[in-house]
Amino acid sequence: MDFTDTPDEARFRAEVRSWLAVHLSGEFAELGGRGGPADESGWDTRVEWEKLLGRDRWLGISWPEEYGGRNASFAEQVIFNEEYAKADAPARVSFFGEGLFAPTLLAYGTDEQKRRFLPKIQSVEELWCQGYSEPNAGSDLANVATRGVLDGDQWVVNGQKVWTTLAHRSQWCFCVTRTDPESHGHHGLSYLLIPMDQPGIEVRPLKQMTGTAEFNEVFFTDARTDKANLLGEVNDGWKVAMATLGFERGTAFLSQQLAFQRELQELIEVAQKRGATAEPVIRQELADSYIGVQIMKYNGMRMLTGLVKKGVLGPESSIGKLYWSNWHRTLGERAMHVLGADGAIIEKSEPGAYELDELQRSFMFSRSETIYAGSSEIQRNIIGERVLGLPREPK
Ligand SMILES: Cc1cc2nc3c(=O)[nH]c(=O)nc-3n(C[C@H](O)[C@H](O)[C@H](O)COP(=O)(O)OP(=O)(O)OC[C@H]3O[C@@H](n4cnc5c(N)ncnc54)[C@H](O)[C@@H]3O)c2cc1C
Repeated sequence: MDFTDTPDEARFRAEVRSWLAVHLSGEFAELGGRGGPADESGWDTRVEWEKLLGRDRWLGISWPEEYGGRNASFAEQVIFNEEYAKADAPARVSFFGEGLFAPTLLAYGTDEQKRRFLPKIQSVEELWCQGYSEPNAGSDLANVATRGVLDGDQWVVNGQKVWTTLAHRSQWCFCVTRTDPESHGHHGLSYLLIPMDQPGIEVRPLKQMTGTAEFNEVFFTDARTDKANLLGEVNDGWKVAMATLGFERGTAFLSQQLAFQRELQELIEVAQKRGATAEPVIRQELADSYIGVQIMKYNGMRMLTGLVKKGVLGPESSIGKLYWSNWHRTLGERAMHVLGADGAIIEKSEPGAYELDELQRSFMFSRSETIYAGSSEIQRNIIGERVLGLPREPK
């Protein structure tokens, strides 16, 4: 596939770039590079920023125009993300709604559901969280035990979710529940949309080693949602859930390498300032990291080419997930080599709390990246079985 901009794409790129240059100013100028993993700083301003994106239809650009989108092609989505990263614009607060739920809703929702939920995602009035993982259902999602029982016009939900990112900030949760009590495995599950603001839901923060708590345990005790808030068919939620995971492992992370490239650049600058670039081992590590970013870029392009030509995500998405999460973890370790003993010093802001700088935060948070969105072991299983054609793992 040729990745040179066509004249239309070049015009689109110029439009994105100039919008960002004009709007990422004033109170929003200070948001540069803010947010993202283990960093909830400037949250309210980031919500306001995102509302501005939504107002001018830069949120949901891939959606059909009838639902407020721009019907943007894959190439345009990549261009938007590239320019967004180059402008050092802040991490997005609507990742779960825009990046994971909306594409699933567009694929499986009724017209009524699309008209109900998409505008509120775009206006950033409703944020979403992902209620998949449970204490005994992480990699083995088919083990979900949270129950949903139909009671008149409502589903009644009981059970527990865990590691639910941004549940404390979200108005809605897309949730995998077991609606056929006799069922096992991936049968008998339904994909329910549950409002978070109700007495039957308790959200308990889980503090991480980064000192922050973006994810939570979520307890459902007779929580309720309308019968109509079911995506897809009753007891056939597995394929809907798998579609969301496809977006999570694939296109949603397509622009990852750009953010990493910026982080690497920052590390190089720190290394230069500290004189660490005179050390041959560190020079080699930085060069190796640069090569890694290029590999990520070209694998991303390969994934995009497959997506455009065949309309489905290929194994490149698993290769990409495995690769970028390991690359980033190694970069975190390399950052600690550059910082030396200083990397182990953290500032205490108040009793029990501490402030990390960007490199320390990245080092710590990157440990989790080989776990979420499909752990490295699971990605290797997928690559082994579906790409290399090895026998399926014994169960
Ligand atoms: C930062 C972060 C954010 C998250 N956000 C969310 C969220 O918003 N919503 C949500 O629903 N979940 C979220 N998760 C949960 C995440 O999806 C799970 O942690 C992940 O799926 C792994 O499941 P688990 O933790 O239950 O580990 P387990 O499935 O218990 O796995 C434990 C270990 O065993 C390995 N393993 C398991 N099965 C196999 C196998 N068949 N073959 C080989 N090895 C295997 C795993 O790879 C892992 O190393 C988040 C996790 C993290 C770390």
